[in-house]
Amino acid sequence: MFDYLVVGAGLFGAVFAHEAHKRGKRVLVIDRRSHIAGNVYTENVGGINVHKFGAHIFHTSNKEVWDYIQQFAEFNRYTNSPVARYKDELYNLPFNMNTFSQMWGVKTPAEAQKKLDEQKAEAVAALNGREPANLEEQALSLVGRDIYEKLIKGYTEKQWGRKCTELPAFIIKRLPVRLVYDNNYFNDKYQGIPVGGYTQIVEKMLDDVEVRLGVDFFKERGALTANAKKIVFTGMIDEYYDYRFGELEYRSLRFETEDLPQENFQGNAVVNYTEAQVPYTRIIEHKHFEFGCQGGNATEHTVITREYPATWRRGDEPYYPMNDEKNNALYAKYRAMADTEANVIFGGRLGMYKYFDMHHVIAEALACVGKEFG
Ligand code: UDP
Repeated sequence: MFDYLVVGAGLFGAVFAHEAHKRGKRVLVIDRRSHIAGNVYTENVGGINVHKFGAHIFHTSNKEVWDYIQQFAEFNRYTNSPVARYKDELYNLPFNMNTFSQMWGVKTPAEAQKKLDEQKAEAVAALNGREPANLEEQALSLVGRDIYEKLIKGYTEKQWGRKCTELPAFIIKRLPVRLVYDNNYFNDKYQGIPVGGYTQIVEKMLDDVEVRLGVDFFKERGALTANAKKIVFTGMIDEYYDYRFGELEYRSLRFETEDLPQENFQGNAVVNYTEAQVPYTRIIEHKHFEFGCQGGNATEHTVITREYPATWRRGDEPYYPMNDEKNNALYAKYRAMADTEANVIFGGRLGMYKYFDMHHVIAEALACVGKEFG
């Protein structure tokens, strides 16, 4: 008999399992995949830690979360500074003085501000004081027409498979707009990549915890739940309830990875392809997350991954929840069901149906631990 059955060996499940085990609880972690660590899984390929399920850059302003994750690995000083490629033009991201200078030839913040005001004027006037109702309105009123057309529209419509006019505004609010020459993609206080990759972090969290891989909760539900007092479920909440109110929508991804016999392919960890015609959204060159082209760990080969957004259908890997009004309302119904359960905790991006980053997931898991164990 287990005190907790944790379904899913990703970050939420691993933090919870680690903390429960530390408190003397009997914990079983299962995952239907053949490896732990969920989508933060990294694999060493000839000296390069490959982010198998897309770029994972740890960033947070939450000191508790930052201190927590440091127990499990040393972090390097990586600062995410993606480059956007639109046709043959290159731009720095996020939207900052470098971008404005490349886009319009402006040199000072005052010149950039003047240009931004001109670019935004039409959209701001159209809003007439109300909040942007969709991503297009949000982007146009934030950075104006040129940046929207070249750096946002194509990328976003590929990424989400929907028109920007049909997407929620909050998605684009993730990106900073700055009048300084600073290409740091995140505003957070702490940032880095674990030296040696993410898998070791989850391995350490699950050290001494019983883990069974290749186990599908839904195929063995009866026996598994009969053997546990409580369940921590980090899969899709709608699947848990057998889609009784209908299917939540997700966005999926397909990754195409190549190992190339050259030292340096693109000179940066992340290059976004922002035009609609290129079918992938970005190319990740994994070694640059760890300064693989410099210093002692230089390798003669490099591993790159093209990331293709994909329609999600039942059975595919769900990567992003579609947090629009319709889906959030449907989630609220599942959430209300979940609130009536005394013995099931839902966690993580899929269990809570939220566009969480890693630091959010850890904060949620620690909050859940606090509630459970005081
Ligand atoms: N985005 C964009 N152009 C870019 C990068 C991002 O328009 O070159 C928009 C896009 O709508 C995307 C959102 O910003 O969905 C958030 O991007 P982020 O890089 O934070 O997404 P993630 O890494 O979580 O996929």
